[in-house]
Amino acid sequence: MRTVLVSGGVISGIGKGIIASSAGLLLKTKGLRVTAIKIDPYLNIDAGTLGPLEHGECFVLADGGECDLDLGNYERYLGIQLTRDSNITTGKIYNLVLQKERRGDYLGKTVQVVPHITDAIQEHIERVSKIPVDDSGEEPDICIIELGGTVGDIESMPFIEALNQYRHKVGKENFFCINVTYVPVIHGEEKTKPTQHAIKQFRSAGLAPDLIACRCEHKIEETTVQKIARSCQVDYEQVMTVWDMDTIYQVPLILRDQGLLEVLTRGLRLDKLDLSPSRTEKGAELWELWKDTVVPKQHWDPVHIVLVGKYTALDDSYLSVRKSLEHAAMRCRRRLNLVSVDSEHLEESTLHKDPTKYHRAWNAVCEAQGLVVPGGFSARGVEGMIRTAQWARERKIPYLGLCLGMQVAVIEAARNLCHLEGATSEEFDAQAEHRVCVFMPEGSKEQLGGTMRLGTRPTHFVEGSEWSNLRALYHGASIVYERHRHRYEVNPDYVEELEKAGLNFIGKDDTGRRMEIVELKDHPFFVGLQSHPELTSRVLVPSPAVLGFVAASAGCLKQIIDETRAQQIVLNGSGDATHF
Ligand code: GLN
Repeated sequence: MRTVLVSGGVISGIGKGIIASSAGLLLKTKGLRVTAIKIDPYLNIDAGTLGPLEHGECFVLADGGECDLDLGNYERYLGIQLTRDSNITTGKIYNLVLQKERRGDYLGKTVQVVPHITDAIQEHIERVSKIPVDDSGEEPDICIIELGGTVGDIESMPFIEALNQYRHKVGKENFFCINVTYVPVIHGEEKTKPTQHAIKQFRSAGLAPDLIACRCEHKIEETTVQKIARSCQVDYEQVMTVWDMDTIYQVPLILRDQGLLEVLTRGLRLDKLDLSPSRTEKGAELWELWKDTVVPKQHWDPVHIVLVGKYTALDDSYLSVRKSLEHAAMRCRRRLNLVSVDSEHLEESTLHKDPTKYHRAWNAVCEAQGLVVPGGFSARGVEGMIRTAQWARERKIPYLGLCLGMQVAVIEAARNLCHLEGATSEEFDAQAEHRVCVFMPEGSKEQLGGTMRLGTRPTHFVEGSEWSNLRALYHGASIVYERHRHRYEVNPDYVEELEKAGLNFIGKDDTGRRMEIVELKDHPFFVGLQSHPELTSRVLVPSPAVLGFVAASAGCLKQIIDETRAQQIVLNGSGDATHF
């Protein structure tokens, strides 16, 4: 097992995850099997209880693990399926060690950060890096480990110690360090000092760089690269620059051009791996497909999508939704023009407080070719989402409701089609007369962490739903699998009335009592899903639901459905689309 460790210096949030994913993708194009682990040195056990406005979205894995959004990047880039253990947090490791201590496993011993926490980290890495993550069912050849935060932070110290011990154990020749730094430009001058300091810091932590990846806004000068190599005592070939690209999917292209694969091959003796010709061929095919898909076509027409949500202050809050829209737009051969609107700005209260904001928000909604309402929790901004669903339904604008977005579409129909005054979800008003969305019986209101309906669950298309556009995009399947993360669901007591009013619940869970998909018939595309289909969208295999929505918004739904019928995409056992 070979390991590539990606850690960062200078500042956080400069795209370590993208560089790590790109390195993984390039290794895959050589026919290698790649897995990934993300280390987050915070105390939360998982990302389920973190606010999206602070940390970005909580990514949900097939097994229901609630984790850091970088795991989503790995799944999207590498076409793999990770498990909850692929995300390590300080809290998770301490929890494990403390449970053992209480059980008496260390009886008589003092339990310490070194060796008990550091051993637990290594054992975890060793175990998880061997779990098969693709259709081959085989152990991966390489594990990419991304260490969150910046080297030098107090909280990442135990992980760095553990990783140093781990490198010693597996051998230097099986361990490759990519150090990501930042090169700012001050008054037109490219500054290398932060990188020099960061590399000093890395070295004193024991993590000497095999490769320095410099993030920068624009391509940096040759002379700057030479200066960094010289002052950090590495070869020129070991310094690469990653400048801002039109799309992040082009990062593998520029890293490959700069020789990343050669440096990795040398550093990890990859030529010693005896790969079958079919694996090498598959890798080469993947590269061709990737190159072809991610190069932006300037002549493509734009498709104007408006996302109406409550966490719009931070783009990362809806990262997977954004990515899935990008994937779908690429398939539709359109340039995605995505605008976010804070749903609260669409409400009457904003009109009184700040009319400019209100009118600006509505102006954006009016200009949308398609409206998407993503997931969310609690009452703030929900009225604005309900009004968005109404606008889309009445004006026949394509609508995609994801989780909460489906629930608000149902609330809207209850109010305006069934005339159930004040209809809402129990989540927003537990005393309301018409609670058209209710708390799920198996949920827990006391314990918030990890107690939602989480992970991959099946949805059965009902008989007579053959007319459905969405179903056609799922290749006419009768059962589909998507990931979930919710506490509330459509109240079964209102389903009959809602169906009479024209809402078609065409997808249900195993029991038939839980509504999973709603679609309108006399509408270009109006779909709500209780699941989060955006989570399994891949660069080369867009989510059927998001694809349908973008295609309808761009006016090419029929063409995309015809293309889908002609294609063969197999669904694997867990229900995620089989990846390239
Ligand atoms: N708040 C809603 C629920 O818990 C929707 C959740 C979501 O959008 N992820 O059911």
